[in-house]
Amino acid sequence: MSKTVVVIGAGIGGLSAAIRLAAAGQRVIVLEKNAAVGGKMGEVLRAGFRWDTGPSVITMHHVFEDLFRAAGRRLEDYIELLPVEPLTRYFYPDGTVLDVTRDLARMVEQIRRLDEHDVEGYLAYLSYVARLHRVTGPAFIYGAPPTWRTVTQVALADALRLEPWLTMDAAIRRYVRSPHLRQLLGRFATYVGGSPFRAPATLNVIAHVELNEGIWYPRGGIYAIAAVLERLARELGVTIRTGCAVKQIHVSAASRATGVILADGEQIAADAVLSNVDVAHTLTNLLPRPAVDLRQLRAITRADPSCSGFILLLGVRGEFPQLAQHNIFFSADYRREFDDIFRRGVPPDEPTVYIAITAKADPDHAPAGHENWFVLVNAPAAGPGFDWERGKAGYRDRVLATLARFGLDVRDRLVAEEVFTPADLARQTGSWRGALYGASPNSALAAFRRPPVRDPRVAGLYYAGGTTHPGGGVPMVILSGRLAAQTIVDDCAPESTFRQGDASLTARRNAS
Ligand SMILES: Cc1cc2nc3c(=O)[nH]c(=O)nc-3n(C[C@H](O)[C@H](O)[C@H](O)COP(=O)(O)OP(=O)(O)OC[C@H]3O[C@@H](n4cnc5c(N)ncnc54)[C@H](O)[C@@H]3O)c2cc1C
Repeated sequence: MSKTVVVIGAGIGGLSAAIRLAAAGQRVIVLEKNAAVGGKMGEVLRAGFRWDTGPSVITMHHVFEDLFRAAGRRLEDYIELLPVEPLTRYFYPDGTVLDVTRDLARMVEQIRRLDEHDVEGYLAYLSYVARLHRVTGPAFIYGAPPTWRTVTQVALADALRLEPWLTMDAAIRRYVRSPHLRQLLGRFATYVGGSPFRAPATLNVIAHVELNEGIWYPRGGIYAIAAVLERLARELGVTIRTGCAVKQIHVSAASRATGVILADGEQIAADAVLSNVDVAHTLTNLLPRPAVDLRQLRAITRADPSCSGFILLLGVRGEFPQLAQHNIFFSADYRREFDDIFRRGVPPDEPTVYIAITAKADPDHAPAGHENWFVLVNAPAAGPGFDWERGKAGYRDRVLATLARFGLDVRDRLVAEEVFTPADLARQTGSWRGALYGASPNSALAAFRRPPVRDPRVAGLYYAGGTTHPGGGVPMVILSGRLAAQTIVDDCAPESTFRQGDASLTARRNAS
């Protein structure tokens, strides 16, 4: 018999879980506080410009195909995913420009000009990250959350060759010696909000999904992904209510989630509740205090957060053929930049600046003769180190001055502009301190410390999204949605040993 599942939050993890639950025959209601679905995947339309406000780099094409297949549909009937080429154009302070491309011959030629030895090193690095993906993928990305038992199942020879005790940067140094390439490869740490100088070497796996597999762009803009997931969910019978904030998860005396209470007082009953909201936010604001596992709350809220972002949406007069769809303007001192973020808790003095321009692929995203720049700088999660309200105008000037030093002075060419700080991200999406990817991945143990899919104390309460396993990033939260949906379906199955209200049993199952 079908169960009613309430999903709090229409982020990509929530929508993809809703799709899988509906495809499995459950009755699903998604409640989203914002006016539109998508969460961190947002879009802004203004003055003839269209910007994506969150993700701009889409990898792991197969994860999207898999989601549509699970719903009995074909991805290509809903969305056109175009390969992006070059993947990213890198600009260095010394004037070097490097296009990272799928064209191996062109890539090799550019690396040869930097340092001939690095051609072999780069090719060996690509093979190392492919091995990382083969070995760590099943345990850390595609399956259930890792346990120590999972790790012991990785062949010893493989495990030793991966050198998980090194940092990402230390592993990269074993392969390439050009400072340009080292900085470029280290940048993948930021894809999960970490620092290459602290994150474990295993996170070099991120380079595999981009350099070996490629980047994709959905025709129409990244937000097209959120829009088609909403469409597919509705086609499958999911009820989606936007502008509908959940105030509290209702927990029975037997410690079971029995529904939610909305901000306007309306109550919705459910057999299971899935929170797609940041777990720290869910525990602090949505769960009644007596139901909260205080040990889990302390662990999550005291953990160092991943980095956040400072964002400028710029409508720029003029066209810039020297720019690609994705561009990076590197700082001269990468180590200092990450020290600013993670040690001093302040936005970098000399930031690396990222610019994505969807008008390069979809010219109608900007008026003729203009471009829509999404400018992103890594910043610390909101905290006592920096007052964004007082500092945001000055920091915006600093970012624009940095671009001017690279010959891109657009300060008198801005016809539209919006600024988002880490505090804005926290407000808009409910992310803890505005962190983009949950807890910091800078520790080798981070993958083992993510909150479990089932709440340890409240039966029938589940989590999906970037703060849970396998972590942040669009394809990853789709995988988290798959895991949560599968767990709920299993628990709701008639033969399931899961008994309603038996929180201690839930806790034992989580531990196993
Ligand atoms: C600036 C930026 C750049 C990024 N770049 C990339 C990238 O290039 N590639 C990539 O793969 N990933 C990127 N990411 C990360 C990616 O966007 C996220 O990991 C992913 O979208 C998070 O999805 P989620 O399922 O965790 O839900 P979230 O996006 O966190 O959504 C949670 C939803 O819950 C809603 N909500 C909160 N509280 C309530 C409540 N009380 N009641 C109802 N609803 C509520 C929120 O409004 C929100 O819609 C980026 C993120 C940002 C912000």
